[in-house]
Amino acid sequence: MMLETTPDSPYPGRAIVDLGAIGENLEVLRGFAPGAAQMAVVKADAYGHGILPVATAALRAGAAWLGVAQLAEARALREGLDAAGIDRSAAPILAWIAPSGADWAGALEACIDLSVSWTWVLAEICAAARDTGIRARIHVKIDTGMSRAGSTRADLPALAAAVRMAEEEGLVEVVGAWSHLSRGDDLSEEGRASTAAHVEIFERGLKTLADAGVEPRIRHLSATSGILWHPEAHYDMVRAGIGMYGLSPDPLTASGASLGLRPAMTLQAPLTSVKVVEGGAPASYGGTWRAPGRRWLGLVPLGYADGILRAGSNGAPVLVEGPEAITTRVVGRICMDQFIVDLGPAEDAPGAPSARSGPAPAKVGDTAILFGDPAKGAPSADDWAQAAGTINYEIVTRLGDRVPRVHLSDRRVAERAEAVEDSAACENSECAAPAEGARSRAPEKEAR
Ligand SMILES: *Cc1c(COP(=O)(O)O)cnc(C)c1O
Repeated sequence: MMLETTPDSPYPGRAIVDLGAIGENLEVLRGFAPGAAQMAVVKADAYGHGILPVATAALRAGAAWLGVAQLAEARALREGLDAAGIDRSAAPILAWIAPSGADWAGALEACIDLSVSWTWVLAEICAAARDTGIRARIHVKIDTGMSRAGSTRADLPALAAAVRMAEEEGLVEVVGAWSHLSRGDDLSEEGRASTAAHVEIFERGLKTLADAGVEPRIRHLSATSGILWHPEAHYDMVRAGIGMYGLSPDPLTASGASLGLRPAMTLQAPLTSVKVVEGGAPASYGGTWRAPGRRWLGLVPLGYADGILRAGSNGAPVLVEGPEAITTRVVGRICMDQFIVDLGPAEDAPGAPSARSGPAPAKVGDTAILFGDPAKGAPSADDWAQAAGTINYEIVTRLGDRVPRVHLSDRRVAERAEAVEDSAACENSECAAPAEGARSRAPEKEAR
């Protein structure tokens, strides 16, 4: 394992992201959905992990597609991939959120696949296709029961007809048809019934499209929960988000470890203070915790401005790597830039009133790990989610911009990529134009 990027930052906190874990997790997920191509979902800065390194690692590890929510994210991602010399045809990107009046022409020029839920979107995209002379690559989204994006049963026939016309005019290519499960992680009878209904409505939508003469190449419905728990919803491609980062979409249904997933991110910071306070001393704003007797306290330079949820005050777990590992908790309220951890009782050293405390359990500079790989004794993002009353998704995606990401790469990822076929890779010649100075998408492979 080697350090790929070491941000030259004086900022003390670090999110260490193991890109080897990204590749391994994709391989684990491939085992659950062996017949489907993989889209690596890298929205929200790759769930806080750093979009470009993660996207590149995912492609090397065999992901055929990249998915982001916002069009702006897709544009930035394309720019980064182009600059890295990654061939556009080897890295199709789907974006599914854009407002009316978005820069559709720019999206087409950047070869970004666009989601179409409504006829107004189609009209705007068609106008851009006419202006630029670039055929738009679209994925028709069907509302299968989430009432978020997607065409409803009532609206779909008109949308299908409009898509067919646009296709005949050469303005669009229908690459995909897709939707999203709202209760894929819910394995109760009711949850399973919901997923079954999603699949049924999806099928009906595909039929509506087919009746209008629209035949999408790639049908996709499943995110991680669908990959893990609903093989009937795999179709041609699956969209791997949280599982790729090594976390379970529902730790109560199955822990990440039990699924064979390994968290890619370790969030850590060096202690900036280690000191003894007297019994009864209040800690942090509001004094919501008081030391039960003389106590060693450590200070960690990460706070809610870094996305460390304040709801984790008084309870979220931390591992301090002192001479001996100390499994401990946040005490008192999490502040904007720092929080306090309990390091245990400070024993009176017998007969030495001037140096009343025994040896310190940790020292300034020792590493405090907020979350990481539980197999290595670290608390997990799931533990933080539980302490803060939220989900692991929010723990990693909230991580603030000012925390440097350090990416560890693993050569095995590149080697594995050779064995994997990109079954649903973009074949549109309009997208095949390589970026300037483009190389193969996995330069490491060429070198060997
Ligand atoms: C975020 C998202 C995903 C990925 O979901 P995970 O549960 O993280 O795997 C897939 N599809 C859509 C539409 C999404 O918004």
